[in-house]
Formats: sequence, structure tokens, C-alpha cells
Amino acid sequence: MVVIRGATTIASDEKEEIRRAVKELLEQIENRNGLNRDEIVSVVFSSTSDIHSYYPAKAAREAGFSGCSLFSAAEPEIDGGLPLCIRAMLFVEKNLVPRHVYLRGAKVLRRDLTDILNIAIDGPAGSGKSTVAKRIAADLHILYLDTGAMYRACALKALEAGADTENEAELMDLFREMKLDIEYENGVQKTILDGKDVSEEIRMPKVSMAASVVSRHASVRMHMVEKQREIAGKMSCVLDGRDIGTYVLPDADFKFYLTASPEVRARRRYNEMVKKGLTVDFETLKKDIARRDEQDMNRAFAPLKQAEDAVLVDTSEMTIDEVVAFVENKMQEKI
Ligand code: C5P
Repeated sequence: MVVIRGATTIASDEKEEIRRAVKELLEQIENRNGLNRDEIVSVVFSSTSDIHSYYPAKAAREAGFSGCSLFSAAEPEIDGGLPLCIRAMLFVEKNLVPRHVYLRGAKVLRRDLTDILNIAIDGPAGSGKSTVAKRIAADLHILYLDTGAMYRACALKALEAGADTENEAELMDLFREMKLDIEYENGVQKTILDGKDVSEEIRMPKVSMAASVVSRHASVRMHMVEKQREIAGKMSCVLDGRDIGTYVLPDADFKFYLTASPEVRARRRYNEMVKKGLTVDFETLKKDIARRDEQDMNRAFAPLKQAEDAVLVDTSEMTIDEVVAFVENKMQEKI
């Protein structure tokens, strides 16, 4: 027997809204866990004490969940607790790694514990951190911030200006002038440099390598870290990078350090690029990644390293779904 948890919030304490929310929550839990309805043995609901209009269990039965036993209970009133929240616990007869589902701001942590949730995912290139970070952010309905894109934008600016990437003062003169905006379109991060969308351009191999060089300089990092802390201080987000857990947000609520063997990481990047229609030489790419790792790990200021309190995940032999499930379950355990 496996237990899957889920929660959602409702806009108002009304029968129709409760029916909609329960149906959505159960269907999402089914979809994300690949469940057949007859594998659900029982569902236990609890709702916050500000919900009076309808029993979630009744809403579930009406939504077609009639072959399992259903039960609703009211939660005690907790000071500062998330309002209008329905929680569910599904008992399932299937051998799976559960993927817990939180919808509509019913994030993992209660609001009385923290208002803003920051999740740090660090690791070397190709460790899977950006894919995983995006998925976690989507599941929790919070923002995803790709900090690598910011250093990449700096690198592009330096390359376009023909600046010496080793010259910290020259770079800073350039970066103080540039306008770097992070925008979101349908939840996808866009990197806007001096008014131009450079989201694709910054993925070029020569920009990757230059990013690793410009990001070595302490003043360049400070400039970017200031922006990253400003965003993370304002809203819940998942940040991926190299120094999020160690330097940018040492007090992040959750910290993960993803890694994988160099061969696997290079293969992932290679496949990504080929998929985009780019011509790349695997061995060159592998060497570039190794050089970048070496630079990122050995720079003097805020190098790439696992924070002492970060959970290490070796993704070499794991699928993305497995990594996401592992990370989400680790967060669940901590609460
Ligand atoms: O993650 P991504 O490969 O896009 O990062 C590009 C480069 O930017 C890295 O190789 C690293 O040198 C730098 N970087 C960093 N700190 C971060 C994110 C990226 O130094 N938080």
C-alpha cells in the first residue's frame, strides 16, 4: 500500500467550487502517478475550518470516485494556517514512488511556517538541475529562476562588446550600463538584454564558456547575486545555479545538489543540442564541460560546491520523473 498526498485551495467556500477543486485535485493525482481508478483503495480528506458548504468526500463520489472508501474531516483552526484549503490522502494498491500534488498555492509548507518558500538546486552542467527545477516550480506553482542565464547574458554582452573577459574593471563598466531583465511568458523565463530577447542566443557553446570566465569575478557575481536575492526575497521560487545553497541563499528552505557522471552529463547536453538542430562534436562538448566544471569549482569566490545541508542526488541512473519524485518526497519528509 502506498500513500499519496495532495492539497489544493479554493477561491470561495461554495459547493460548486469545492466540487471543481476536488475533481481537479484527484484527477491530477491520478495523472501524475499514472493511477487507474480501481487502484485507489481509499481517500481521506481534511478541510480547513473555514470550509462549510460541502463535503469533499461527497464531491469525490460525484466526480466518479465511487469504487473506494471516502472520508472527510474538518481540521482544527491553526493561527496563520493557509485558508480555504482541502487536503487529501490517497491509499493506493500499487507499487510506485508517490508523486504528491499541490495545486493552487497549497504549497508544501504551511503559511504559518513561512510566507516565502525558496528552493536551491545547485550542481554542474548537465546534472539535470534546470529540468528538475522547472518541474518542481510548476508543481508548486511558484517561480523558476535560472541564474545561469544571468551570467550567460553578461557573457554575451562582453563578447558582443569585444571586452576582455579577464578584465574585471572593464567588465563591470559594461555590466553597470547594461539592462538585464528577467521576464516570464506562460511561465517560461525570458532573458532580455538591453531590450532584446536573448534566451536562445545565450545557449551557444561559446557563451557557455565565456559565462564561466566572467562569473569568476567577485564584483560581477555580487552584481548578479543582488538581483537574485531581490527576486527570492519577494516571492517563492526555485533557483538553480552553482552557489545558491552556499552563498546566494544560505537559509533556503530546501537545498539539493544534483550531479551525474561526466559522460552522462555530456551526453545529455549533446542530445539537447542535436535536438535543437545544432551540429556539435561530442568529444569537444565533453572537454568544454569538464573545463567549465574545473573553473566553476576552483574559483576563489562562491565556487560550485555542495552546501553542507544540501541533499546530494546522483542522477546518472535516474529518469527526470524519478529525480522530481525524489526531490518532492525529500521536501515532504522535512515538514
Ligand atoms: O547553469 P548554466 O550552465 O546555464 O551556467 C552557465 C555558467 O554560469 C556556469 O558554468 C557558471 O560558470 C556560471 N554560473 C555561476 N553561478 C550560478 C549560475 C551559473 O557561476 N549561480
